[in-house]
Amino acid sequence: MTVLENDVEQLGTTSRETPFDAIVVGAGSSGLTVAHSLTARGASVVVLEAGPAPFLTHITNTDLRFARDLLRNLREAVAYRPRLASGGEFGVNYGCFGGRGLFWNGASPRYSPADFAGWPADGIPQQADYAWAEQQFRVTTAMGRTAMAGRLIAKLSAGGFAAEPGPFAADIEDLYTGRLSAGIASGLGLFFRGSGNAAVQGKLKVAINSRADRLLVQSGTVRGVAAVGGQGTAPVEILSRAVVLCGGGLESVKLAAISSIPDPHGRIGKGIQDHLFYPAQLNAPEIYDATSRSSAIVYVRSQSQSGHQWELHAPGNRLFSIDDGAPWVPAAAPPYEIMIRSFAATEKRDDNFLEAAAGGLGSSTVHFSYSAADQAKKAEMAADAVRLCAVLGAQGVTPPDLSSVDRFRTPGNSYHEAGGLDMGVDAATSVTAPDGSFHSVANLVSADAASFPRIGATNPHLTIVAVARRKAQQLADRFAVIP
Ligand SMILES: Cc1cc2nc3c(=O)[nH]c(=O)nc-3n(C[C@H](O)[C@H](O)[C@H](O)COP(=O)(O)OP(=O)(O)OC[C@H]3O[C@@H](n4cnc5c(N)ncnc54)[C@H](O)[C@@H]3O)c2cc1C
Repeated sequence: MTVLENDVEQLGTTSRETPFDAIVVGAGSSGLTVAHSLTARGASVVVLEAGPAPFLTHITNTDLRFARDLLRNLREAVAYRPRLASGGEFGVNYGCFGGRGLFWNGASPRYSPADFAGWPADGIPQQADYAWAEQQFRVTTAMGRTAMAGRLIAKLSAGGFAAEPGPFAADIEDLYTGRLSAGIASGLGLFFRGSGNAAVQGKLKVAINSRADRLLVQSGTVRGVAAVGGQGTAPVEILSRAVVLCGGGLESVKLAAISSIPDPHGRIGKGIQDHLFYPAQLNAPEIYDATSRSSAIVYVRSQSQSGHQWELHAPGNRLFSIDDGAPWVPAAAPPYEIMIRSFAATEKRDDNFLEAAAGGLGSSTVHFSYSAADQAKKAEMAADAVRLCAVLGAQGVTPPDLSSVDRFRTPGNSYHEAGGLDMGVDAATSVTAPDGSFHSVANLVSADAASFPRIGATNPHLTIVAVARRKAQQLADRFAVIP
């Protein structure tokens, strides 16, 4: 038994004597942020994580991530796939201690002011929340200040793309022969540095392989959760003064939807958003420098919430994971050397919603379709890819036709879903208040991207962490007054 393997039966028994201050549902970046923030303020906290702890160090933080088969198999072992009502699945998600942050790519821009359009002012993370998130996740722009990045930025800027060094969550600034020599920071670093000691001392209780099956809601108050342990036995009631939902966009929405939470305006699960995700590879010989074996992470910020952003990562797929141990040189590299990725928000519509069903991870169905505005946006992004390619003097590869809208990933595959427990001041049009507490259940808090009333154009991870930090601090402030 490790500090991550507390037993739900025992937690239930303990909580009947003295309820925990908070139960945090989910141990991804948002849940580990909330757990850390609450325990640092003296709260007693239980973290329930439905998945296992596949590694006690995170795979993106060691040379192990260069072992591609291991990474692929590990991902598959913890994957879950919500259904798409129109057929197939709504992307692939990962449930384990560390959550998707165990496998993410590390692009860490802050939201621009425009991204927050439609957000309640008090729900927007503060400068201090972002600074904390950047410090904890080791965000650096060093890979955007290399020789190759300089050439990319100069060409892009001359071509009208406002390029800048890409902020990136890596726990080392050095590059080694064209690849990240250490790793991409994840919530496990935050956990072991920040709250691991609280777990060892028993102040923070973590239960892996333990799923919150239902929220215990009574007369506008949540009393705790009914949790299912690893053996799949009957749900056990664990009692707490507050519950914080950090299950990742869809699972937090599901838990709220199946738990008889008062929802007089039918807003729970409505308005799910995703990112349109355009990936491509470019061959850009003019950018390479065979002698320096340089690398680059460059970012082109979206100009508005409805616009799209660009990321450029070089050398292509070798920056993050290679398995042959060979140093990167352009001549020997795969047929592409610059990976470009563009994201833009889908239109916010009630037609995109979650049909919740009780059960294990991924038991719900997502109703999701692209609107006419989404289709027009895709065409605009593809056209912009052609222009960006021309500015770099590059060629598209495999397949070379950059203007095809078929290049977009299918719904859910951006890993950036958001909404469904939208924050707002008006209870008729939103589910949660600006501090994340439910309008109808004050001691229940949504602290992940389910609470984002608009997804913005920007990669969400840093903002997810900053928002989780803010909501945890607000909850800690409220503990004195929570009934
Ligand atoms: C391959 C990949 C690349 C990515 N690249 C980037 C990037 O470059 N930049 C960026 O900004 N973002 C990126 N992302 C997205 C980013 O990783 C996620 O947005 C972020 O990690 C979400 O964190 P979270 O804690 O909110 O949710 P998750 O990481 O999904 O964690 C939620 C956890 O809750 C658990 N859970 C759910 N329901 C329950 C329940 N009922 N009971 C108990 N536990 C439960 C799940 O098992 C899971 O472990 C990427 C994601 C992936 C997969």
